[in-house]
Amino acid sequence: MLQHEILSDSSCSVERSFEILGGAWTFLVLREALFENVVQFDSFQTNLGIARESLKRVLNRLVRNEVMDHRPLVPGGLRKGYFLTERGRDLLPALVAALNWGEAWASDGPAPERLIHKNCGYPLEQAVVCSHCHTAVDPRDVSFKSRIKSRSKGREKFAKMRYVEQALLERQRPSSIARTMATIGDPWSFLIIRECFYGIRRFDAFQQRLSIASNILTARLKRLIAAGVLRTQPVADQPHLSEYRLTEKGMALYAVPLTIIAWGDKWLAGANGPPLILTHNRCDHAFSAELRCHSCDMAVTLDDVEYQALT
Ligand SMILES: [Zn+2]
Ligand SMILES: [Zn+2]
Repeated sequence: MLQHEILSDSSCSVERSFEILGGAWTFLVLREALFENVVQFDSFQTNLGIARESLKRVLNRLVRNEVMDHRPLVPGGLRKGYFLTERGRDLLPALVAALNWGEAWASDGPAPERLIHKNCGYPLEQAVVCSHCHTAVDPRDVSFKSRIKSRSKGREKFAKMRYVEQALLERQRPSSIARTMATIGDPWSFLIIRECFYGIRRFDAFQQRLSIASNILTARLKRLIAAGVLRTQPVADQPHLSEYRLTEKGMALYAVPLTIIAWGDKWLAGANGPPLILTHNRCDHAFSAELRCHSCDMAVTLDDVEYQALT
């Protein structure tokens, strides 16, 4: 399983990227921007059926963190739009990871949307891979060294952030990304899942590392169990205690945090370098998440992708 070593208390790019991206609506706003080239407030609102206040909050957060640029639609014009920056366009792997998981694990009918790799014409499936050996990464094959400690302050704002129900996220149209985010898309659940990948299993350990109120933690864990992402099992030598383990469905979520970690390392780590060094034990190399087409083995960028809404 995962080996975890805390080296020192240093920068928090991982933490920050989860704060920036935590939230189901954020991913759907990014879907519209990345795949449908939406830039206008009203178009985001109409396409998603999101409340204006929520949309404002999401867009402001993305602008504040330089994922989007709020500038005139035409040079010198009065009306402004929301344009993805380079940093924003580079979130493609996170969106693909969410779409791939929703398709594989949270849909029972035909896929509501798909991504085509234009260079070869095949759909992008299992497209998040190890940057060194180009195979899919199973969390059981990863060890890491961390230079960060979990932060204990500044999470008060999370406390009020709730799940957005899947039905609401899919009000305008069905989406695999929405289904993934309905499962893990509030910041707390995101962080709990991330802690699971770090090998955290016990209630107290989650609570201590995340500084999360016990009632909120209880509710989130319950919900993740109901979603089939976590399961409980008695602790080996203390059968009156139970611990939380990822199911296969939960393990498969790994691509989502991996892409977010890679993004944070690239855009937020600064001079300190990445706070987390991941090693893929299968190829025995340090790696990051990379987007690569399963069919033709080429690295994939936004320009190579065609998004098709199938409904
Ligand atoms: Zn590898
Ligand atoms: Zn291809």
